[in-house]
Amino acid sequence: MGETNLEDFRQEARDWLAANFPPSLKGHAMLAMMGVTRDDSDIAKWRRALGKKGWTAPTWPKQYGGGGLSVPQSRVLQEEMRRIGAFQPLGFGMGITMIGPTILDYGTEEQKGRHIPPIVMGEVQWCVGYSEPNAGSDLASLQLKAVDEGDHWRLNGQKTWTSGAQYSDWCGLLTRTDPKAKKHEGISFLLVNMRQPGIETRPIALIAGASPFCETFFTDATAPKDALLGELNVGWTVGKRLLQHERASQTGAGGPGRRPQPLFEIAKKYVAVDAQGRIADRDLRSRITANTMAAHAHELTLARAAAEAKGNQSPGHAPSILKNSATAMLQTRAELTIEIMGAQAMGWEGQGFSQDEIEFVRGWLSGKAMSIYGGSREIQWNIISKRILGLPDTTGSA
Ligand SMILES: Cc1cc2nc3c(=O)[nH]c(=O)nc-3n(C[C@H](O)[C@H](O)[C@H](O)COP(=O)(O)OP(=O)(O)OC[C@H]3O[C@@H](n4cnc5c(N)ncnc54)[C@H](O)[C@@H]3O)c2cc1C
Repeated sequence: MGETNLEDFRQEARDWLAANFPPSLKGHAMLAMMGVTRDDSDIAKWRRALGKKGWTAPTWPKQYGGGGLSVPQSRVLQEEMRRIGAFQPLGFGMGITMIGPTILDYGTEEQKGRHIPPIVMGEVQWCVGYSEPNAGSDLASLQLKAVDEGDHWRLNGQKTWTSGAQYSDWCGLLTRTDPKAKKHEGISFLLVNMRQPGIETRPIALIAGASPFCETFFTDATAPKDALLGELNVGWTVGKRLLQHERASQTGAGGPGRRPQPLFEIAKKYVAVDAQGRIADRDLRSRITANTMAAHAHELTLARAAAEAKGNQSPGHAPSILKNSATAMLQTRAELTIEIMGAQAMGWEGQGFSQDEIEFVRGWLSGKAMSIYGGSREIQWNIISKRILGLPDTTGSA
């Protein structure tokens, strides 16, 4: 798309956002973390307006309710949203980031027509059922069984760490459909309705205070035969694609948030500055500089990767590199913030601590999970060495 057309689109996006983004939500991107909301609040109104326009999923095909935008147009939309403090209300949702793209890649027309429009509108919440007590990094060891009962599947077994399972309407999950086949074979991907008596969720409390995920138990749960996504016993291929989409959403690109406050600004509130207004502690100053440069380099690399992809939306393996680089940069940033805040980083609740301080502490703790979810840091290194560098496989993984 030429520059002129892109500028026309920028004006169109600007006008539409001015008319539709509720000013009361400006800068409140964290509300997007709440996911699907069913009330009459401004966030629900914003979600409905953006969904109707298809811009909750800007690049998805129009025929399923998406925005039908090109990748450059969707970047312009994102820039325009940031400019006015607007955000994607479903930005973190698994429907938008993982399940939707995988259904678009592998679904039948019937599956796309049924599942994609409610995801775009934010009317349903999805979770992802991969990990089990004995299958995390070694995911292919999964044991949740789906037995073919003629006209439906019967599911028995357990998933764990299932994010948002307690609130979800649907789950995209990996099951063992042929127990006699080799480990990576005999796995199938099913789209399962969570609202049924055979599924029980038990939330797990976390150090950061929230309970974002569950143990999920399946006892004679059922799914219709057409719940199968992709081919029978070829679920490993479908499942890997979902993980690529997941990692692509964890590279630090886009996301619903505003830009974080620069570390130097935070530091100047808490630590001494010298006569030139610089942070007096030279060691701290150089570590903050290194992190700021790493963040800038990461952003430039993201922009380069997007330009090189030239609109190709297939996620490939590059997100493994970007996920690890985003994780290292963000975890270091969180450690530095805590160090800078000193005793104010001891805050959990109550008086004596500002809301920002409490959020920094919780963010530091919850950020530790970044190097685990979506495939741990070491698993990304394995993928980089095998799939990108072409080094020999010594792990036995796929
Ligand atoms: C916040 C959060 C949300 C999550 N949400 C979901 C979800 O919604 N759905 C879901 O299915 N799962 C979810 N998970 C689970 C996540 O995918 C797993 O925790 C992750 O894959 C690691 O598996 P594990 O915990 O069993 O650790 P293990 O696999 O036991 O790994 C333990 C350690 O050994 C290392 N290791 C293991 N194998 C290798 C290897 N071959 N080479 C080198 N090092 C290795 C790992 O890197 C890790 O450091 C979530 C996890 C977290 C923390």
